[in-house]
Amino acid sequence: MGVELQSPGEPVSELRESFRSGKTRSYKWRKTQLKGILRMIVEKETEITDALYVDLSKPKLESFIHEITLAKHSCELTLKELEHWMKPEKVSSILTAFPSSSKIVSEPLGVVLIISAWNFPFLLGIDPVIGAIAAGNAVVLKPSESSPATSSLFARILPSYVDSSCIKIVEGSISETTRLLEQKWDKILYTGNAIVARIILAAAAKHLTPVVLELGGKCPVVVDSDIDLKAAARRIVVGKWGTNNGQACIAPDYIITTKSFSPKLVDALKTTLEKFYGKEPMKSEDLSRVVNSNHFSRLTRLLADEKVSGKVIHGGERDEKQLKIAPTLLLDIPDDSLMMQEEIFGPLLPIITVDNLEESFDLINSKPKPLAAYLFTTSKKLKEKFLNSVSAGGMLINDTTLHFTNTNLPFGGVGESGMGSYHGKFSFDAFTHKKGVLHRSFVGEVSARYPPYTPRKQKFLKAVLNGDITDLVLSVFGCLKS
Ligand code: NAD
Repeated sequence: MGVELQSPGEPVSELRESFRSGKTRSYKWRKTQLKGILRMIVEKETEITDALYVDLSKPKLESFIHEITLAKHSCELTLKELEHWMKPEKVSSILTAFPSSSKIVSEPLGVVLIISAWNFPFLLGIDPVIGAIAAGNAVVLKPSESSPATSSLFARILPSYVDSSCIKIVEGSISETTRLLEQKWDKILYTGNAIVARIILAAAAKHLTPVVLELGGKCPVVVDSDIDLKAAARRIVVGKWGTNNGQACIAPDYIITTKSFSPKLVDALKTTLEKFYGKEPMKSEDLSRVVNSNHFSRLTRLLADEKVSGKVIHGGERDEKQLKIAPTLLLDIPDDSLMMQEEIFGPLLPIITVDNLEESFDLINSKPKPLAAYLFTTSKKLKEKFLNSVSAGGMLINDTTLHFTNTNLPFGGVGESGMGSYHGKFSFDAFTHKKGVLHRSFVGEVSARYPPYTPRKQKFLKAVLNGDITDLVLSVFGCLKS
């Protein structure tokens, strides 16, 4: 079961004891925990996908692809590479310490806190835990109260697969999280919105605790005209509605295309939506529902904004009882509408038209830096311009969301979309201190670095530091003698 917070220092003091015992540091301990997690993912697949269905009506295949498979791959990759990642990295040493050796030692940080969000509640909880354990830390996971079925499943099953004296689940909402944040952690990884991120950062600052903030933002999709339109439409639709019905941090938030190309793009998007989700998408089993009534009201508010009235060109149906909103397209909504000012995080997709695609870069750059930015084009020139003029957590050309699954790429935001990154080796690094270690020998003792600083010594040291061989040769004999 998860931990109930009763006394003030809980559960950090117990975890600190466990960490101090040194057991989390060994390769064997880390490997055993990771194998336990892998076994849990395999053995509890049905319970996990059932919980995700309860929390979000998440289609089973989506859960399998986005949560089960990605978590499993993360664990398998970490198990495969861990021994190699843990090895100290030899680096060149320095002439002034000759003879010596230098290396970078990966050291666990200690006791870390992971606070996760509701939209991919299994993956976003377990994936950072995999990184924290791989790096040799003791860890607390605080899953989101907005996905209660997955949260309580974690609390029920995880302790029987891992060492629960070092890895704990604390369920709860704001009050429990606030109590956790009062304690001193050695790292906090938070996934969620930027308002709460500021609370996390302020709490962390009191203890000088480093943080990774995995936030969101408005992810733009720029669509050029010289593309495979059918493929682009499918990739946009699946990235938007096929990832939790738009409730994903990297889901397309708005499209920018040219005025002349927009009719073709709109047609292709409508056709694809109908192909994927039928003529009555509200009845589709392949779309998640909106997570709860708060988010349903938030999305309704975005649609009810008078600045977007008359702009819906597809969809727009809502069912409050079932918390469902149909895939919805809007055309040319004003930039000062709520929908263009806030992260949408739901099944609404505005399309903005411009005369020239390069104008789109100014529009994107006028907003906080997004977590992901997408471009569909075959133009090398436009691609280069996009890469060089748009700042975003990550980028993907000619598709959406897939970069998230490449564990060779760091995943994280920049500016308002977050700080720090994880996935693959970057997860290990996120929970590791890179300790620089220089090892000197007693051979090669040179008196020049010690006072008194005679003119000869000065000449010698300057020659060494400037790399001046002639001066060095001239000065070396006298210096060694002094
Ligand atoms: P949420 O409501 O699940 O909150 C996230 C976590 O913050 C929860 O564990 C919650 O208990 C905690 N929390 C909430 N209020 C708090 C408070 N006052 N003090 C301390 N802790 C508090 O999730 P959310 O914020 O609705 O998540 C959606 C946002 O997260 C979107 O902006 C989305 O883009 C972003 N997101 C980012 C990623 C990523 O990997 N970068 C992934 C998913 C979601």
